[in-house]
Amino acid sequence: MTPLESHFKNQIREAGPISLSHYIELCLSHPEHGYYMSGDPFGKEGDFITSPEISQIFGELIGVWLADLWHQAGSPKKVTLLECGPGRGTLMVDVLRATKNVGGLHDSLQIKLLENSLLLQQKQKDALNDYDVKWLTSLDELQTSTEPVFVIANEFFDALPIKQFEKVNEGWAERCIGLNDNNELTLSLIPSARVNGMPAGLSNGQIVETSFARDALFSNLCELIQKNGGALLAIDYGYLSGNGDTLQAVKKHQKVSIFETPGESDLTAHIDFQRMIEVASDKGIDICAVKNQGEFLRNLGIELRASVLKKNAGEKQAQIIDSSVRRLCDTDEMGALFKAFCVHAPIKKIKLLPAGF
Ligand code: SAH
Repeated sequence: MTPLESHFKNQIREAGPISLSHYIELCLSHPEHGYYMSGDPFGKEGDFITSPEISQIFGELIGVWLADLWHQAGSPKKVTLLECGPGRGTLMVDVLRATKNVGGLHDSLQIKLLENSLLLQQKQKDALNDYDVKWLTSLDELQTSTEPVFVIANEFFDALPIKQFEKVNEGWAERCIGLNDNNELTLSLIPSARVNGMPAGLSNGQIVETSFARDALFSNLCELIQKNGGALLAIDYGYLSGNGDTLQAVKKHQKVSIFETPGESDLTAHIDFQRMIEVASDKGIDICAVKNQGEFLRNLGIELRASVLKKNAGEKQAQIIDSSVRRLCDTDEMGALFKAFCVHAPIKKIKLLPAGF
């Protein structure tokens, strides 16, 4: 039994079922036993692989996206570049390498990383040794800033805790975590008074996911960008319509039960992009239409960049470049399930036109 499993069982025995959001939050971010706090889950040897870890081109293209916006804004002298949930720091390393010859850009950047795992902060420090970088554990520190802000977030919002509600005859029940007769963790339906904001017309058994943490963090970022000018690019897997249970646990590249080894497998939930659009609309910020990752990367020139890299590559390396591009872009790989989403606000009255959308 993992330390978190016995922690949850004790908690449930004492005080009854716990919410899914509490379960997810501790599984991922418990200071000692949380998944991101106690190991490096990325890459072939780990539990899952993300786009920046598949190919350097991913981060390079985001570097191009950033440099273009910075130019559009008249090359401001000081801007914040914030990455949320940087993992091993690979995306930021690639963004910075790709933009190192953009005159004046690096001098203007105040690089900030929002990361709550000390272990991953250390990996990011090692990867970004050559740069002046500051770490944040909350957005509060940015509230007083006045300079334009560019935010990038790959597979970050999917790691924020969700709740699930199930339609039952009389109304809604919250899917919580309880114990069954064999003393195993199990889903437990608790009647919920929640009605506000729940979609109408669903039949019994259908599930709706909400994420207070995601809404709140994204809403704060929209406010900051609206106030200072700038843009946010989020890339994540998710859907634009529909509903259902998207919570999944992954360990060693395999899907497992969310109750298997709590704290030792990754837990994620798909992004409801329609909800992101609603939150952004409430803040009055400009929104780009959500694009499939494949289309977004092609619009930014992934094929051209791949062909340049292949010119200097051996045969084996060229095959790896081709297969990475396919993996990132093909609709039956990451190209359609993953989506790019962007919100932006003018910088000193200059309206931005983010590339790729
Ligand atoms: N962007 C990286 C890593 C994605 S994994 C990549 O594409 O490879 C999710 C990242 O978000 C990890 O770095 C994790 O530690 C971080 N994270 C998860 N929840 C967080 C939170 N509430 N606050 C800050 N960082 C968080």
